[in-house]
Amino acid sequence: MTDFNKLKKIVLDNNSFLITSHVNPDADAIGSEVAFYHLLKKLGKQAFIINHSSTPYNLEFFNKGNIINKFDETVHKNIFSEVDVLVALDFNRANRIVSMEKLFRESNKTKICIDHHQDPEKFVDESFIDTNACATGQIIYEFIKSTNIVPLDYDIAYPIYAAIMTDTGSFRFNRTTSEVHIIISELLKLGINPEEVYDKIYDQSKFSKIKLLGKALESIQLKAENKLGYMVLTQKDFKEFGAVESDTENFVNYNLSIENVVMGILFIELNNGFKVSFRSKGNIPVNKLAAEFGGGGHTNASGARFFTNNLQEMIPVILAKAETYLNNIR
Ligand code: 5GP
Ligand code: MN
Repeated sequence: MTDFNKLKKIVLDNNSFLITSHVNPDADAIGSEVAFYHLLKKLGKQAFIINHSSTPYNLEFFNKGNIINKFDETVHKNIFSEVDVLVALDFNRANRIVSMEKLFRESNKTKICIDHHQDPEKFVDESFIDTNACATGQIIYEFIKSTNIVPLDYDIAYPIYAAIMTDTGSFRFNRTTSEVHIIISELLKLGINPEEVYDKIYDQSKFSKIKLLGKALESIQLKAENKLGYMVLTQKDFKEFGAVESDTENFVNYNLSIENVVMGILFIELNNGFKVSFRSKGNIPVNKLAAEFGGGGHTNASGARFFTNNLQEMIPVILAKAETYLNNIR
């Protein structure tokens, strides 16, 4: 059980907070940040949101009043030693904040982590982790409800709804419990419009993203007796359409929509290395598979980043390792 009273005490006893989340943030990352920001503001606290990555365009609508900042070392260096508390949301390893990792580690201020991933690194003073939660946004909801630290209003409910909607794959992944639906029911009572949230996040894509999806679908290959599907996107593909990394969110899931496929992989060539996303069905632990390459995540959704330029060499290596995870289900 997460010790929310301890978290409440940290929030009430301190005045200024730096909130951050992981590289290439999704709606759980940004939504959790914005919800926590509003919670702190309602208590009259100083709060800053700073991320390694800029906010993906489909999540910019969260950034009313420009409350979300992209990390700039010259501007933000001192803040790590000036605020009272550093708040890590929706990640559990310091390398997930890339350019901010060093300053985060070196800060002597109180550090806390609120998260739902497995296998945490010990990089903070206090962790509030619930690996059964479907989203970090769910943990923030439960913190507010169980402590009554602030009233739950529309400003907080909206980003929490978005966090849960996206991290549950629109209420279909296996951590979409009846409790989650009860939370959603409460959020809807506060005036959330589900059609509007979905439309903003998923149905306002740039044409370039849909064209890139076409490339990704075209690239799918099947392996391991059709149990494994994988896609490859190169920098050439991104340049062809003017697409960006965050456009690839959810592409990997298309592998799993093919009959018999129980594991999907997406390889993405980046400017400075490459990224691999893993997805699985059932109890195939792709978090363990990702961890073999320095990454992590959840049982059914994980990823790893490589800061080397040998993607083509690594594809067969990673596929071979992935196949070993399929052996016991054959
Ligand atoms: P995605 O493939 O959508 O980027 O990430 C899927 C899940 O894996 C997310 O929960 C994300 O936090 C986690 N994940 C993705 N990349 C990495 C990584 O490089 N390191 C770790 N530890 N987790 C990752
Ligand atoms: Mn999450």
